[in-house]
Amino acid sequence: MQAHDAMYIDGAWRPAIGASAIEVRNPATEELLDQVPAGTPEDVDAAVRAARAALPGWAAADPAERAARIGALRNGLAARRAEIAGTVTAELGAPLAFAQAVHADLPIAVAGSYAGLTREYTFEEQIGNSRVLHEPVGVVGAITPWNYPLHQIVAKVAPALAAGCTLVLKPAEDTPLVAQLFAEVVHEAGMPAGVFNLVTGLGPVAGEALAVHPDVDLVSFTGSTAVGQRIGAAAGGAVRPVALELGGKSANVILPGADLTRAVKAGVANVMANSGQTCSAWTRMLVSADRYDEAVELAAAAAAKYIPGDPRDERTRIGPVVSAGQRQRVTGYIAQGAKEGATLVAGGPEAPEGCERGWYVQPTVFADVTPDMTIAQEEIFGPVLSILAYEDTEDALRIANGTVYGLAGAVWSEDEEEAIAFARRLQTGQVDINGGRFNPLAPFGGYKRSGVGRELGRHGLAEYLQTKSLQL
Ligand code: NAD
Repeated sequence: MQAHDAMYIDGAWRPAIGASAIEVRNPATEELLDQVPAGTPEDVDAAVRAARAALPGWAAADPAERAARIGALRNGLAARRAEIAGTVTAELGAPLAFAQAVHADLPIAVAGSYAGLTREYTFEEQIGNSRVLHEPVGVVGAITPWNYPLHQIVAKVAPALAAGCTLVLKPAEDTPLVAQLFAEVVHEAGMPAGVFNLVTGLGPVAGEALAVHPDVDLVSFTGSTAVGQRIGAAAGGAVRPVALELGGKSANVILPGADLTRAVKAGVANVMANSGQTCSAWTRMLVSADRYDEAVELAAAAAAKYIPGDPRDERTRIGPVVSAGQRQRVTGYIAQGAKEGATLVAGGPEAPEGCERGWYVQPTVFADVTPDMTIAQEEIFGPVLSILAYEDTEDALRIANGTVYGLAGAVWSEDEEEAIAFARRLQTGQVDINGGRFNPLAPFGGYKRSGVGRELGRHGLAEYLQTKSLQL
């Protein structure tokens, strides 16, 4: 796909109001891939006006009609699966096999799920003498990050459309190409003009303009906690709802009787996937002190199997990180970990062998990590695992809950009931028990500073509704 030198507003590609552009680079080669326009507050304003004008018609459309359009969107994405995967590999650096299986197939599945949910959802219910109406919240401003670029777009756009809302999307500046591809698919799906609008641009300019726009009814943001706090504060000032999906520092708790080999291998795979750029990654592995050395050995051996390479090669398991800035941030944390006394058992801050060009980071494992260290508290967002020892399960619980975050986690035990009982005490939004699979219909979101609200499934749809009760 050739990048559009335009914004998708009111059902057509329209020239940007400003003249500046954002360069999109291939993280594996550092080469310029393409460029997209950098939106201004005026572009955002035009998009919000289009979304406002389209709202009454879309909100009043029969849910079956909305379901049909979302179904067409799902089919359009499925038809362009190979192109989606190729685009995400090029602009994010995700290995092709992972791009196909996750960056393309997951949003296709999520879009499909909302085609079904729109048909099944109870938009009206009777409670005693009241008829309760679940109405669309209105015009949505959606701001998304680069790490799962299409998934995060679909996880906002599909439920908002299902609810009867209209939107303006401001995607991440590092990955705007797949966002433009998505807008093409929306257009081909026959969505009425103005229902979905795309403004590419920089966070502090276009993102900020959307986040504070007085005619936006709800801002749904996925990204860093620092920006989320700012967006939440603006929403508080305007007294309007906000949905925030933020960072994480999730714990992978391996209880004493668990299958250590399986748990460690799955834990390392979870951290290395997408070069560690996953908000829900289990970046802290918690192991009982008496099995600690064995776990460290297993983890180092597992990490060694992730050899950084060209993401276009189907055999590559780990590609680069998204940008030079991200590499600098990640290697800075690796240096900090070593400085604070953690032991490097795999990887390190230097570029991986043979990967001098491209923004590559070595898959890294730290042992002897204590809960107070920076690498045990802060989100690194790179292929870096910290292994911590615990004395008993109460200690494990204290460590697991001992960060400001609460997005995800894992518990492993030979006894599923023991793992579930432990998971009930975790302050976190989702927990995988003994390797339980990701469920695109299950609510996804954070406790504590990991966010406000939930995405996916019927819980994700409810975020875009507000209720009115008629007393009869
Ligand atoms: P980021 O916060 O820098 O950017 C996210 C989006 O916000 C981008 O579109 C950016 O342009 C925009 N933005 C930046 N400054 C803004 C401002 N002042 N006003 C409005 N918009 C602004 O985050 P990132 O580096 O792109 O993404 C990585 C972060 O996202 C990580 O912290 C990760 O944990 C988090 N994340 C969370 C989830 C989740 O579901 N909880 C999912 C993926 C990523």
